[in-house]
Amino acid sequence: MTSPSVPEFYTPRRDRKTRIVATLGPASSSYERIKALFHAGVDVFRLNMSHGDHKDKEALAHTIRAVEREVGRPIAILADLQGPKLRIGTFAGGRVEIEQGAIFTLDLTDKPGTNERVSLPHKEIFNAISIGTNILLDDGKVRLEVQSFDKTKADCRVIVGGVLSDRKGVNVPNAVLPLAALTKKDRKDLTLALKLGADWIALSFVQRAADVAEAKKLIGGKAAVMSKIEKPAAVEALDEIIELSDGVMVARGDLGVEEPVEKVPGIQKKIIRKARAAGKPVVVATQMLESMINAPVPTRAEVSDVATAVMDGADAVMLSAESAVGDFPCEAVAVMDRVAKHVEQEPNYLRAGSDDLYMNTRTEDAITAAAKQVATSIDACAIVTFTSSGSTAIRAARERPQAPILTLTPKLSIARRLAIVWGLHPIKTKDVDSFEEMIGKSKRMAVRGGLAKAGDRIVVTAGVPFGTPGATNVLHIAWIGKNEV
Ligand code: PEP
Repeated sequence: MTSPSVPEFYTPRRDRKTRIVATLGPASSSYERIKALFHAGVDVFRLNMSHGDHKDKEALAHTIRAVEREVGRPIAILADLQGPKLRIGTFAGGRVEIEQGAIFTLDLTDKPGTNERVSLPHKEIFNAISIGTNILLDDGKVRLEVQSFDKTKADCRVIVGGVLSDRKGVNVPNAVLPLAALTKKDRKDLTLALKLGADWIALSFVQRAADVAEAKKLIGGKAAVMSKIEKPAAVEALDEIIELSDGVMVARGDLGVEEPVEKVPGIQKKIIRKARAAGKPVVVATQMLESMINAPVPTRAEVSDVATAVMDGADAVMLSAESAVGDFPCEAVAVMDRVAKHVEQEPNYLRAGSDDLYMNTRTEDAITAAAKQVATSIDACAIVTFTSSGSTAIRAARERPQAPILTLTPKLSIARRLAIVWGLHPIKTKDVDSFEEMIGKSKRMAVRGGLAKAGDRIVVTAGVPFGTPGATNVLHIAWIGKNEV
C-alpha cells in the first residue's frame, strides 16, 4: 500500500498526554465510525489478527489511512499477532462437564473428546510439563494438575471443574514451552500487516528475549515491535525483553490467567516503571472499561483503573472489546479521554516516584533532561524536538515534562510510530539544513500547531551537524516575536 501524505501543517494539539489505543472490530469498521473514534480521542488503532480475515484487515487499514488524510494528524496502526495460542480439540457433543477431583486426560489422539479425555494437539507441551504442573483451560475457568505423563498424554487431577467446549484455550503458566515466537499464521499475518503499513507489531505470548529477537529479524525495522507481557516467564525476563523491544504492553487478559489475578496490579506497576526508566512506550490493556461493552457509563472501579494507569505514567491505555464489539465505542473513548485529562491536571501527577527513574550519562539524555528543567523554569509553551529515527522524541517523552513536545520529523512512518508515545505531537515536515532554519521552523510549527503564540518561549533540542542520528547536543531557547507569527 502506498503511503498517503499527511499535510505539513495541521493542528497537532491533543490536550492530553496519555494516548488512547482502540481495537477495531465489527462495532467500529465503517469510515464514519473510525473518524468518530479519532475525534473522540483515539491516537492508535489496533488490528487484532486473532479475529477476522485478511480482507477485513486490508479494508480497516485503508479506512484508517483515509481518515488520517482527512484529519491531517499521523495515526498509528498496531497489528497484534495471535502468537502461539494453545487450544484443546473438539468434543463429541460440542461440550462436556468435568468434575472436581476426577481424572481428565489430555492426549495427542484426534478422536472427539469425552468427559474423561480430550485432544491437546501440541506435542511440545508433553515435553515441557512435570508432575504437579498446572494446566488451565478456558481462561483458567477449569484447572488441572498433572498426575502422570509421557510423550503423548497427561493424566490430570481436576482441581476446579466446569463446562468445557470445543477449542477452548490452554495456558501452562509455570512452564517455558519450546514454541516458536511466531506461528505459521503469525508469519502470514505479519506479511500482510507490513504490506498494509502497520507501524507497530505486537507479539503475543512472548516467553523470552530470544522471541523478540527472532521477530525483530523478520520485521527488519519495517515496524516497531511491542512485546505483550502476559506470561510469568516474560515477567521473569522483563529487563531483557524491554531492552530488545521498542515498546511493551501489559496484556492483563492472559496475564490474569497465567498469574494469580491479585498479582496483576503489582506486575502492572513494575512493567510501567521499568519501561519508563528504559524510555520504551508502555500500554496498559484489557478490561479497562469492560462494562461499557453494554452500558453507556463506566463503573467507578473502571474509572479508577484507567486513572491508576495514567497516574503511573503509562504512555497509553487501551480498549479491546469495548471498541471492537461493544455498543458504546465512542463513549468508551470519551471516558478515557476525560479521565486522562483530569488525572493529568492533578497536582501530584507524575510527582511520586519519578525522580529515581533515570541515571543519565549520555549527552542526549542530559540535553533532554535539561530541556524539561529549562522548560519548567521559564514556563515554556512547548519543547520542540527534531528527530529522524524517533529516539530523541522518545527520550524527551521519557522525562515526562509539563510542556507538550512538538516532534518534527521528515519521515511519515516515524511520525505515525510516535503517535503512541506519551506527550508527543508528531508532525511530518521537510528537513532543515541550518540552525537558523531549525529555529524558524520550530517557532512557525509551534504557532501553527496551536501550542504557542507571540510573546511565548519554546525550548528546542536538536543534533548538530544535522542528519546525524542520535546526536542530540543542542538546547536553545527561542522567543516568538510579534512579527514572526
Ligand atoms: C491480553 O491478553 O490482555 C491481550 C491484550 O491480548 P488479546 O486481546 O489478544 O487476548
